[in-house]
Amino acid sequence: MQYFDTHAHLGLIVDDPIEQLIVIQEARQASVARIISICNSLHDFTQVYENLKSAANVYHSVGVSPSEVQNPGKDWLQIIEQSVQLPRVVAIGEIGLDYYRKFGDKNSQIELFITQLDLASKLNLPVIIHNRDAGHDVLDILRDRLPPRGGVLHCYSEDAAYAKKALELNLYFSFAGNLTYRNARNLHETIDVLPLDRILIESESPFMVPADHRGKRNMPKYLPLTARFLAEMLEMDEEALVAQLWENSNNFFGLPQE
Ligand SMILES: [Zn+2]
Repeated sequence: MQYFDTHAHLGLIVDDPIEQLIVIQEARQASVARIISICNSLHDFTQVYENLKSAANVYHSVGVSPSEVQNPGKDWLQIIEQSVQLPRVVAIGEIGLDYYRKFGDKNSQIELFITQLDLASKLNLPVIIHNRDAGHDVLDILRDRLPPRGGVLHCYSEDAAYAKKALELNLYFSFAGNLTYRNARNLHETIDVLPLDRILIESESPFMVPADHRGKRNMPKYLPLTARFLAEMLEMDEEALVAQLWENSNNFFGLPQE
């Protein structure tokens, strides 16, 4: 079995470059064979990228998240355009809207989101989408602006009704450790309405640790717990599910299956 962690903030788990490589090694030992390292901020993208350069099984996203709306950095758009030329940079993200923490004002978040969706279209890359308390606006914008390569609603947090609407677009749905929480009924109901080929899983580490490790800092090595939970929910053979998730992830990010 090979697991694909589609969303890990490796740069936030530990600072030290050696320790970051150990996190990846431990993941490998737990059969988490591929990881997407998610850009936290353009201010440290280059540093994290350099730290992980030797890890051939780690791919990267680059983009400005809504938390950075007031401080994306100088020439941020050009920096993204240059960064996607680097080996193993496979997506724009995470980008999106966050009305929960009220970074900047709504309009500047929306402008930042749209600019990067259009950039992803131009660069022919898929997008990794962050949505917190902004589901309506996110979907509205994606209806007009979703790049041809599509997007993933990462750390899915809406409900089944929302998923039905989102399924009309070229979107994947990625579930983090919070899927394993007993009270996550909205997520469990969502699983019921999704076609298997649109589901991904992610660690969202260091956040959203699966229930069995609650209280700990999350790591990619705990991802198999989320897969196991999902297999039980779907009443599916775990190996078959993990193979399907592997295929979905590679399809979405445009990577070879092998
Ligand atoms: Zn994230």
